[in-house]
Amino acid sequence: MIVCNNCHWGQGDFWSEETNPIRDLLELEDALLESDLSASSTTDVHMQEDFETVREMIIKRVEGAAKKIKNMRWRTMEDYVLDNPESKCPTCYEKLTVVE
Ligand SMILES: [Zn+2]
Repeated sequence: MIVCNNCHWGQGDFWSEETNPIRDLLELEDALLESDLSASSTTDVHMQEDFETVREMIIKRVEGAAKKIKNMRWRTMEDYVLDNPESKCPTCYEKLTVVE
């Protein structure tokens, strides 16, 4: 992931076929189709957060994926290096930090 220590702009992990917001949602399909959506209290291991219902957990995960897609600037490290060789923050132009 890339973060700016100055203005706190950031994007999540780089994407690949194995790691991306859509892939992360696929594991919810069974819960979406087969669970009682109103069933109480579930802990989502991905987010390590408690939710009152399965429905709320799924909604939160979908919203989280949408936010990641909205904020994604450089999908891969290669894109980032090619497009931003000086590693400047797109918001404040300070140097970005890449966290592997
Ligand atoms: Zn910044």
